[in-house]
This record gives sequence, C-alpha cells and structure tokens, in this order.
Amino acid sequence: MKLQERVDVLVVGAGFAGLAAVAKILADDPRADVVVIERASDVGGTWRDNTYPGCACDVPTSLYSFSFAPSPEWSHTFARQPELFAYLRSVVERLHLKDRIVTNCELQSAIWDESTKRWTVQTTNGATSARVLIAATGALSTPKIPDVPGIDTFEGTVFHSATWDHEHDLTDERVAVIGTGASAVQFVPEIVDRAQRLTVFQRTPAWVIPRLDRTIGRLERALYERIPATHRAVRAVIYGYREAYVTVLADNPWMLPAVKAFAKLNLRRQVKNPATRAALTPDYAPGCKRLLLSNDWLPTLDRPDVDLVTSGLASVTENGVVDASGRHHQVDTIIFATGFTPTEPPVSHLLRGNDGRTLAQHWGGSPQAHRGTTVAGFPNLFLMYGPNTNLGHSSIVYMLESQANYLVSALNAMKRRGIAAVEVVESAQRQHNSWVDAELEGTVWNAGGCSSWYLDANGRNSTMWPTYTFRFRSMTREFDLANYRIVSDAPDSDTLDSDNEVVSA
Ligand code: NAP
Repeated sequence: MKLQERVDVLVVGAGFAGLAAVAKILADDPRADVVVIERASDVGGTWRDNTYPGCACDVPTSLYSFSFAPSPEWSHTFARQPELFAYLRSVVERLHLKDRIVTNCELQSAIWDESTKRWTVQTTNGATSARVLIAATGALSTPKIPDVPGIDTFEGTVFHSATWDHEHDLTDERVAVIGTGASAVQFVPEIVDRAQRLTVFQRTPAWVIPRLDRTIGRLERALYERIPATHRAVRAVIYGYREAYVTVLADNPWMLPAVKAFAKLNLRRQVKNPATRAALTPDYAPGCKRLLLSNDWLPTLDRPDVDLVTSGLASVTENGVVDASGRHHQVDTIIFATGFTPTEPPVSHLLRGNDGRTLAQHWGGSPQAHRGTTVAGFPNLFLMYGPNTNLGHSSIVYMLESQANYLVSALNAMKRRGIAAVEVVESAQRQHNSWVDAELEGTVWNAGGCSSWYLDANGRNSTMWPTYTFRFRSMTREFDLANYRIVSDAPDSDTLDSDNEVVSA
C-alpha cells in the first residue's frame, strides 16, 4: 500500500500499541481516515523482532492479549514468541486492518506546523500531512549495546538478543553472554546444551521466582472457544491476582521480606554451589528490578560448563573478553542481552513541536507526559506506552488499550466541538507528574535499593506506572478537555483557552 499525501490520523508503528490504537479508532468510527506506517515488512513489533531461543511472554497470555480480540488458541499459559507474532498477524486479518497499514515505511521526521495545524511528516516512502499523530513506536524496540573498549577488534560473531543471528550456529562454540535480565534468563538455558562453554557476565543479580507455566489442553481450549465467558473469567482472575502485586510492591513494602524469603528458598533449592548461590543473591528488594520468572535459569548457572563472571566486563580482544579482574576468556561469539533504551526513545529525536524543538530536547533526559500520553508543546500528538506507563506487575496491553480509549475520546471531543487541535497545558502536565512522583515515593521501584532502567539520566523514575492499573483506566476513560489549549477549526484559527474561552491564536 502507498502512503497517501494527506491523512487525518497517522499511527507510527504496528506492534501491540499501534494495533490497539487503529483497532479502537475504527471500532468507534469505521470510516475514520486512519493510516498506520510500519518500518518493517510485517506487523508485530517486539514479537516480530525478538526471536531468540526460548523467547516468551512473562505475563500470562490470557491477560497479555487484546480484550477485544480474545483467542482460545494459546497452547501455554505463558505464550511463546511465534504464537504471539501469529496472534498479532491474525488480529490484523480478523479486524480487516491490512488496508490501513503501510509497511516498509519508516518515520524520518514529524514537525508541527502551527499555521496549518497539522503534522508535516517525512518517511522513507515520501511525505504526508497528518492532523493527529500517534507515536506507537514501543519503549523496548531499540537494542542497547554498551560501548566496550575493543569491541570493533573482535574477530568472532557479535549480536544482540533482540536481533538474534539465526544463521550462526552456536554448536560447540565458546559463548559469552553479557547481561542477566528478562531476555538472558529465557535464552541461556536454551543454548547451554549446544555451546561447548558458556560465560555469563552478570552485573547485578536478579530475584528469580518460578514460572507457573502449563500447556492448555484441547478440552480447555474448546471450552474457551464455545463459552467465551469462561475465558473472560480466567482473564479477570489473573488480572485481579496480578493487581494484588501492587499491594506489596507499592503500598506495603514491609511485606517484601516474605517475597525475598520465597525467592531465596527458590535459589537455595536450585543452586547447590554456595559460591554461585552467593553471587546470585541480590542485595536489593525484590521487584526493584523486574522480578524474573524462570524454572531453568538458576540451575543452568550452577552447571560445571557455565562460568558466572561477576567482576564486570572490562574490554574485548580479537578472540575474547576480559573481565574487570583482568582475566581473559577466549570466546567465539558474544551475545549482548543488555536491554533497550526506554528513557531515550529514538522517536523523541524525530518529533518537533510548536517551538521547533524536538521532544528529546523538551525532555532533557527525563520524559514527562500528561497521563502518559500527551505533551505540552506538541499539539495533537499522542504517545502510546509513553512516560510512566510501564508496569512491574501486569500486562502492558491493558495500559495500551486504556491509552487507545483516551485518544478515541479525544478524537470524538474534537469532532463534536469542531476543534482542529488540542495541546495539553503545562500546568496540567506538571500536576500529573507531581502526582506520579508522589505516588512513586516509597514504592519498591524508587526505594528498593537498586539502580534500574526505570530511572532516567536525571534520576527520576520516568518509566513506571506507580499504582493499580485500574486507576490508569479510569484516568483515561474520558478525554479531559479542560486541561487542554484548544485550537478551533476556524480559518486562521481562534484559540480557546483551557476554560474553552476563545483567545487569540
Ligand atoms: P534488561 O532487563 O534491561 O537487562 C539488561 C541486562 O544487561 C541487565 O542484567 C544489565 O545489568 C545488563 N547490562 C546492561 N548494560 C551492561 C553493561 N554495560 N555491562 C554489563 N552488563 C550490562 O534487558 P532485557 O533482559 O532485554 O529485558 C528488557 C525488558 O524487556 C525487560 O525488563 C522486560 O520489560 C522486557 N522483556 C519482557 C519479556 C516478557 O516476557 N514480557 C521478555 C524479555 C524482555 P544491570 O542489571 O546491572 O543493569
């Protein structure tokens, strides 16, 4: 499909976020003029790109799927990547979204034009003009590879977990894995039997608890298909149980020692070597960094053919890696499982608001938005998975659907009132963020005693939603027009102030 020269609503990205947005817009108004651009050749976002061995979701799939597109087909309670990717493609088919999506089309820049009250957008497939822009580019889509001295001299193979090199055979190789986060715990147990020797570089140990995964049998699937209410009931139970995590992680951190004791017991049961066990014991509260779910990560690190290096990665040579104690480890392949750049999203460098500055310049390293979605200085821009919408306990899909409700409500308010553009007023944005900061105070994500990617360059937690997800749902149910500067549709527009009074443009 070709990108048209003018569109009412342009969505950037066709992963869970972009598909939630376009599906909700079209459910509300099937004739809406909405187009999605996607830089890759297919939809799926993170579940298209992350194909490393063992890649799976660590949130139960009944919850980690669209409420408006349930699937009775899941084979496991924690779905594997191929199934999630297939699910997203099936949603496109089911909801007839294909004709709305332009693939192989990457956003290059989007500049707000105050005179036309539209976004001027450049892409790899040409230019377009959009009244409303929805950035659904994902928070965990740009792999982060640390700048290790000597990395360019390495003669073996190097790749990141999110861009797995499937052409490369790890059989009988000496492999170094850098990082021990949510991705590493999934693929290390999958490759350990193939490799001759594994050297895992751990900077900070993580708390690990069992993954209560099971296959979903034919009968259960048939039940979900015939009586969808049963599937909805399961989803509701999982939702409630996951929300209960907030009671501990945010509201009652005094209960965390119980979680710690449970995770320690798990560690003692799974790792026999006392030195390895000590190296794997975190010194911060569980939940401060993402709690990892795995049944085979810890036993893998206890194996004699696996080295756990905790002194840090100092440099890379042409045939190996040097740890901070100066020891050289000869390896054939280095796999970086070092995560992403959520607090410096690349899209923030591509969007320019009404003062000509980029979103990244506005943020100065500390992303902030009103209700995680709109930003002062950026009229008619909606961020999916924006600042402070990430979760440590439940499904991001729930948050994305909430944001999609909010933007649909905004589009309707604009249509009803003949409004060309809305821009959140700075005081409302500030007030929202003060509330977020106050709510985060004392939670495990701020006060758990670790350094995590939830905290940005300025030390602010600009990543996590601080409380129960239903509070975000209620906050995003209706568009709060009173918190917006309103630009009317009249030629050379009058502008309405936040009390909806006309002011000069
Ligand atoms: P991550 O959680 O950010 O972990 C990165 C790992 O690399 C950490 O162990 C980190 O150590 C280490 N690291 C980073 N820079 C390093 C450096 N310069 N030298 C040595 N070690 C370094 O990344 P991830 O495992 O890819 O996961 C990212 C996020 O993706 C997760 O938190 C989660 O939200 C999401 N994810 C979700 C699922 C799912 O099933 N839903 C699965 C995979 C990933 P430190 O801890 O010391 O920083």
